[in-house]
Amino acid sequence: MRPNSLHAADIAHFVHQQTDLADHHEHGAVLMARGDGVHVFDTEGREYIEAMAGLWCASLGFSEKRLADAAYKQLLALPYYHTFFQKGHEPAVRLAEKLIELAPAGLTHVLFQCSGSEANDAAIKLIWYYNNQRGKPQKKKLIGRIRGYHGNTVATASLSGQPHMQADFDLPLGDRFLHVSNPNYYRFHQPGETELQFSARMAAELEALIEREGAETIAAFFAEPVQGGGGAITPPQGYFQAIQPILKKHDILFVADEVICGFGRTGNMWGCETYGITPDILTCAKQLTAAYQPLSATLISAPIHEALIQGSKKHGSFGHGFTYGGHPVACAVGLETLAIYAERDMVGHVQRVAPAFLNGLAAFRGHPLVGDVRGVGLIAGVELMADKATRTPFDPARKIGILVQQKCHEAGLVVRAIGDRIAFTPPLIITEAEIALMCRRFGQGLDAAWMAMREEASV
Ligand code: PMP
Repeated sequence: MRPNSLHAADIAHFVHQQTDLADHHEHGAVLMARGDGVHVFDTEGREYIEAMAGLWCASLGFSEKRLADAAYKQLLALPYYHTFFQKGHEPAVRLAEKLIELAPAGLTHVLFQCSGSEANDAAIKLIWYYNNQRGKPQKKKLIGRIRGYHGNTVATASLSGQPHMQADFDLPLGDRFLHVSNPNYYRFHQPGETELQFSARMAAELEALIEREGAETIAAFFAEPVQGGGGAITPPQGYFQAIQPILKKHDILFVADEVICGFGRTGNMWGCETYGITPDILTCAKQLTAAYQPLSATLISAPIHEALIQGSKKHGSFGHGFTYGGHPVACAVGLETLAIYAERDMVGHVQRVAPAFLNGLAAFRGHPLVGDVRGVGLIAGVELMADKATRTPFDPARKIGILVQQKCHEAGLVVRAIGDRIAFTPPLIITEAEIALMCRRFGQGLDAAWMAMREEASV
């Protein structure tokens, strides 16, 4: 344990999220104290490049004064108001208007919540409500993907394909949640199979599941354009092109979970643009406020909105809402964030620096620990492999990903090990010089991990 009262209190009283709590109980946590651009500093003064932008969210880094000012101004004008009972406020209305202006075609209305989980949870509720209004009460099952990540509520953790978020939580709940294979081409393609053939196989599996369950029972398919929590996995070529016609044919809605990809991460405003997706519902959060305030949005199409009106007529009210959904301070920060993205041409910036980012990481393909590097825009995953020639992964019990993450940390770089994939999603404002430093520190971390493994093997 660290001999510091803050760290002692942390161990004594605080339950960390998504953490090995047994290890935390013994060793405590790294507590961050301040930020500057793409850098953060811990309570002991150590500096790190935050190559995960926190949790894929601090797009404008950790010291954007304009966002603090926008929050302060709104706190003075109207610190709180809700959007229940036909009341509301300007920041929520203006932000909804702005989001629809930016959104893929066909989306017309916005619901606000505080988190990505709630955005997807709301999407699930609306889908069930919609199918009840249109006289299809049997059409309720939802399809997610293995290693997909859609949130932590009871429903969204059920929809996610993350075993550790379900085991011992008695999830998935009920029989409405189905899963198809993970589209990690590098890991799961068969010998000689091209990306297009792999995508066709994924699509055939989806269609077989729909036929087995009966299309009349299936309401929606949820997908992240690039899978984040699954390991920063970009879809193989032709994947979404193969899947979308099948969903259309069977009257199944497509929900694009843009909680990570939205607002420039993939080099376009939306991951949907990057991959040619036409969603019926789009959920977003994180970079919507550059993470300076908790806020998420669920964007819906006109037919779904019409169902909400019909249901409201039937029941006297639309029976859904959160006290802090569309909080005025969060919406004011969201509006300022979107203004900064436009003024600084943030999407263009991502396109300009992405080659340095992707090539810089791809250079590690030659490292003895690295099997594959894939990414798009400013999101990438580095897959560690025990034997590259045979694509044999490490024994998960060895926790090689965690070792690399730890050695990177010691080199002043925050990355995230997802199993044995190392994820990178730096703040969108990162410069080429900072990318070069990030890659240098990653090299140091990889080398240190490799040396530690060799030392262990030789004892
Ligand atoms: N969807 C995706 C794709 C995510 O990555 C996350 C969080 N990482 C969520 C939903 C849940 O968001 P939150 O943690 O804000 O509830």
